[in-house]
Amino acid sequence: MAEHVIVVGGGIIGASVAYHLAKAGARVTVLEKAAPASGASSKSFGWINAKAAQTRSYYKLRREAIYEYLRLCETMQMEAAVKWDGSLWWEDQGQALLDQATILEDYGYEAKVIDAARFSQMEPNVANPPAHCISGRIEGAADGAEMVRLLLAAASANGAYIVAGCAVHGLRREGGRIVGVDSNFGPMHGDRVVVATGAWSQDLLARSGVALPMDNKTGVIVHSLPVEPVIEHIIMSPDIHFRQDSSGRIIMGEIFSGGGLDESKSESPVDFAQKMLGRLKLRLPDVKGLVVDRVMVGKRPVPLDGMPAVGVPKDAPGLYVAVMHSGITLAPLIGRLVAQEISGGKPSALLADFRPTRFS
Ligand SMILES: Cc1cc2nc3c(=O)[nH]c(=O)nc-3n(C[C@H](O)[C@H](O)[C@H](O)COP(=O)(O)OP(=O)(O)OC[C@H]3O[C@@H](n4cnc5c(N)ncnc54)[C@H](O)[C@@H]3O)c2cc1C
Repeated sequence: MAEHVIVVGGGIIGASVAYHLAKAGARVTVLEKAAPASGASSKSFGWINAKAAQTRSYYKLRREAIYEYLRLCETMQMEAAVKWDGSLWWEDQGQALLDQATILEDYGYEAKVIDAARFSQMEPNVANPPAHCISGRIEGAADGAEMVRLLLAAASANGAYIVAGCAVHGLRREGGRIVGVDSNFGPMHGDRVVVATGAWSQDLLARSGVALPMDNKTGVIVHSLPVEPVIEHIIMSPDIHFRQDSSGRIIMGEIFSGGGLDESKSESPVDFAQKMLGRLKLRLPDVKGLVVDRVMVGKRPVPLDGMPAVGVPKDAPGLYVAVMHSGITLAPLIGRLVAQEISGGKPSALLADFRPTRFS
């Protein structure tokens, strides 16, 4: 086990890595430039799924991540953070939806196509049911900020130190090896440094000559004020996705490829929120009291090819990066695998296709 591990970034990935490392016996310090969960993790839709996978190996990683969540929910009190309600998905329709269902069936995913009548039985308050949609029974949703709080509390209980307001400016090298960081509190030594700084990772790593090209996307999530329970599932329609959290808030946004704000039209976050609320009201016409509570603008951390970047970059022993989209889905699994690898375990086959060395 490495003696002292510095984890840079207090989002869901850094929090999960810190928890698993501390539990395995490492001395862990988390350095967070603002407050924990101040990045994408608190502005996320929070859908936990393996559906959004372009390749079989990415599907396997995401599928294993769902299993890991379920295991974590058995060992930690996570009722306030995670709900397992399943999803109803028809972002694609017609033949494209059926093709997607065939791929998922081939993968062995717990999902099946249902028709409009079944949809209306499952979600009687949602208007205009689709002719067909895919019901993803094993899926859920997590509150990213609450996940960070729980994971960091569990890391602290295992001896980790969480330092908020500590910005890392660069990585320290000695004889080619990364041996710590330079921060606004001066240099700090670490036997290993884990960079989990989400959308900020490319710049931080570039300062030490490490390449991690990224194509981050602005994303916006809108929260309503709480209303009575009206929907059970995560609803993924072509023009809006929405779910209801345990406090009654409707959490809504656009599909990933939609990106969020339409910057080409200079769409403001308020315009976007009004557009989302209008679409929500069309889907839930009988629900009274739907008003916007808050608008959350975040940066989705996206490595250039869209896939996670997890591992030791080329020519940077001592360093480990863990940067990805779908971090809400992947965090519990990634945290465990990173801790295993840093603790001297054998490299995880699940991560083989997602090493940062592919960008070197
Ligand atoms: C609108 C939107 C919708 C999304 N929907 C989903 C979804 O449905 N399902 C899903 O799985 N994923 C989703 N994601 C993606 C998911 O939220 C992210 O992949 C995940 O939150 C990334 O976590 P992270 O810990 O890597 O980064 P972040 O949460 O961004 O945390 C990085 C942290 O590092 C800190 N930091 C940065 N630079 C430094 C520095 N130099 N020194 C110290 N600290 C630093 C930041 O302050 C921040 O707190 C969505 C994201 C957005 C924005």
